[in-house]
Amino acid sequence: MKVVIVGAGHAGGSAAALLRAAAFEGEILLVGEEPVAPYQRPPLSKAWLKGEVDLDSLLLRPDSYYAEQNITLRTGVLAVSISPEARTVSFSDGSAETYDALILATGSTARHLAVPGADRPDLIELRTSADAERLKSRLGKGRRLVIVGGGYVGLEAAASARALATEVVLLERLDRVLKRVASKPLSAFFTERHRAAGVDIRLGVEVSAFEDGGVRLSNGERVEADTILVGVGALANDSLARAAGLDCDPAGSGGIVVDENARTSDPDIYAIGDVTLRPIPVHICRMRLESVPNALEQARQAAYAIVGRAQAAPEVPWFWSDQYDVKLQIAGLPLEADRTLVRGEPATGRFAVFHLAGDRIVCVEAVNAPPEFMAGKQLIQRRTPVDVVRLADLTVSMKAVGLEPHA
Ligand SMILES: Cc1cc2nc3c(=O)[nH]c(=O)nc-3n(C[C@H](O)[C@H](O)[C@H](O)COP(=O)(O)OP(=O)(O)OC[C@H]3O[C@@H](n4cnc5c(N)ncnc54)[C@H](O)[C@@H]3O)c2cc1C
Repeated sequence: MKVVIVGAGHAGGSAAALLRAAAFEGEILLVGEEPVAPYQRPPLSKAWLKGEVDLDSLLLRPDSYYAEQNITLRTGVLAVSISPEARTVSFSDGSAETYDALILATGSTARHLAVPGADRPDLIELRTSADAERLKSRLGKGRRLVIVGGGYVGLEAAASARALATEVVLLERLDRVLKRVASKPLSAFFTERHRAAGVDIRLGVEVSAFEDGGVRLSNGERVEADTILVGVGALANDSLARAAGLDCDPAGSGGIVVDENARTSDPDIYAIGDVTLRPIPVHICRMRLESVPNALEQARQAAYAIVGRAQAAPEVPWFWSDQYDVKLQIAGLPLEADRTLVRGEPATGRFAVFHLAGDRIVCVEAVNAPPEFMAGKQLIQRRTPVDVVRLADLTVSMKAVGLEPHA
C-alpha cells in the first residue's frame, strides 16, 4: 500500500511519523512545497524571532529520521493537481504518483487586504521560516515596524520586536485586539500589557493603502514604517481539493470538509490540519482550527484510519500563545456560553476567564494559570458541572470546583 502526503508541515510531517509508529509498513511519500523538512511554526513569532532558538531546533524531526524510517521526503515540490478517478497526484516538477491513500495537509495561507498596494513585495507576512528570516533581519534598535492586524501572530511579533528594542505600531481595524478569538477581559489585558511594553496600539483604524515607506489609513493619516508586517488572518489552501471535486466550505476562509476520521468526501483521500473544516464532537459543531494540537489530532486520525486502528476519544480544542512573560492557554470554544466568570485579578497578571453554559465550563482562557487551564480542559472534556461560586473563589483549589455529574 502506498500513502502520498501532500504538504510537509506540522500535520503532514506528523502523519508520516504516526503511520510508521502505528506499524504501517507500506510506502510513504511526503511532498512539500517549502525547501525544508517539516518544522514547527509557533516559534517563528516567539522564541525564534527573539533569537532564543536556532532554525535547526524548529525541525519536527532531524533530517536523518526520514531515511531511517523509510519515508521518502521530497521538498521544494508543489502538487498541482489530483485525479481521484485515476488515484494520481501531479507535481510541479512534471512527475506524477499514484496512491492508495492520499493525505492533503496543505495548511493555510495569509489573507491579503483588498486595498491598493496589498501586493507590494516589501510587505511581510509571517507563515514560513523564510518569512520569519526576512522579518527578523529588519528588527532591532532604531527600526520601526508597523503591524497590520491585532490577532495572535501580530501580537506575538509585536512582543518579540519590542524585546529587540524595535519601535512598534500595531493597527487594528476592530475596537479591540483578538476580537474574533478571545474574550473582552483577555483583549483588555493584552492591550494594556503591550502598551506598557511600548507598543503603540491603535484600535478602530482601517488601512486604505500600502505606500512607499508607510501605510495610509482611511482617515487620511499616514503611518511611517521601515517594515510592514501584515497579519490579518489565513485562508485554507484548499484549491487542489476544490479542483478535484472534493466537498469544501464555500464560505468564509474555506476548508476541506472531513469527518472524525479526517476522511474527505472521497474515501481514499484524507485531509488534516489548518486546511480542514472538521467536526468538533466535544462542542457538537464544525470549524476550521489553526493550531498545532489540531494538526496533531487529525494526523493521528488519518494515520489510524489508514491502518484500521480504533480512534482515541475526541480532544477538546486547545491553543497557546506566548507574549512577554505571559503564557496564555485556551481550551474549548465559547460557542454555547451564556456567561463568563473571571477567576483571579487581571492586574496581577495571573487569571482565568471561564465561559459557562449553565453550570458547565465550555471554554477557559488561562493567563499564567496552568492549573486553571488543566482542570478547565478536563472539566470541559468530561462535561462535569461546576460549583460556580467556588470556581470564582481563588482560595478554592481547581480540583474542588467540579460537582457530581447530573443523573
Ligand atoms: C507565526 C505562527 C505562529 C503560530 N503560533 C501558534 C501557537 O502558538 N500555537 C498553536 O497551536 N499554533 C500556532 N500556529 C499555527 C500552527 O503553526 C498551524 O496550525 C500548523 O502549522 C498547521 O499545520 P499544517 O500542517 O496544517 O499547516 P502548515 O504547517 O502550514 O503546513 C502546510 C505545508 O503544506 C505546504 N503546501 C501547501 N500547498 C502545497 C502543495 N500544493 N504542494 C505541496 N506542498 C504544499 C505548505 O508550503 C506548508 O509547508 C502558528 C502559526 C504561525 C504561522
